[in-house]
Amino acid sequence: MALTPEQLDRHKRHILLKEIGGPGVQKLLGAKVSIVGAGALGGPCAMYLAAAGVGEIELWDNDLVDRSNLQRQIQFTEDDIGKPKVKRLAGRLKAAAPDCRVPERQQRWNEAYTLSGSIIIDATDNFETRFALNQAAHATGRHLVSGAASRWTGQVSVFASGVEADAPCYQCFVPETPPEAEACEDVGVVGPVTGMIASQMALETLKLITGAGKPLIGKLVLLDGLGGVPRAVTLSRDPDCPVCGG
Ligand SMILES: [Zn+2]
Repeated sequence: MALTPEQLDRHKRHILLKEIGGPGVQKLLGAKVSIVGAGALGGPCAMYLAAAGVGEIELWDNDLVDRSNLQRQIQFTEDDIGKPKVKRLAGRLKAAAPDCRVPERQQRWNEAYTLSGSIIIDATDNFETRFALNQAAHATGRHLVSGAASRWTGQVSVFASGVEADAPCYQCFVPETPPEAEACEDVGVVGPVTGMIASQMALETLKLITGAGKPLIGKLVLLDGLGGVPRAVTLSRDPDCPVCGG
């Protein structure tokens, strides 16, 4: 289907890029993603994807907006305090991109629920859900865009164990909950670091949808907010991985 004059106008800056162009925008309009977590990572990531024209963004989160979220969850305002995150974020997405469908799942996702997106975005903050999302992505042959942030640091990767031979899964990288695992509500996190990670998660998703560039499969980008210079490490599939190993 041809882009409407309104869509041509709205997406002009993406259409100008040879790696996206009109065909890339068409792919974005037809894409469905699931974002689990509507907080500091899921919120800005969802806003960039809605703005880019992604056709459907399924949102999962059971939390209500708390005043302490406003330091970094810039999708919310003072008026949102006490309201469901999913509902308020869906409102922001629809305001920016009225054609975006936003199924609202105002509950904590677990493996009993199916995800509607063909790409799964892990914007959660706990290992139990991360492991379950990784298993779901692997078992159903979907890409998992994964991000995390704590204190001054953050990390991003794309896991594709169910899509590409030899690609590692999240559990090849993190076999079990690390003993030193710390929650950002206990140790703090810098707002712009979560924004940088969220933006890169949106970027990786946009690349997967349009085929532009090389997705971060088998690579992990580590951001050190204090130093300012990110670095990348290579991840390999673990043959003994309980999820994707032989
Ligand atoms: Zn694995």
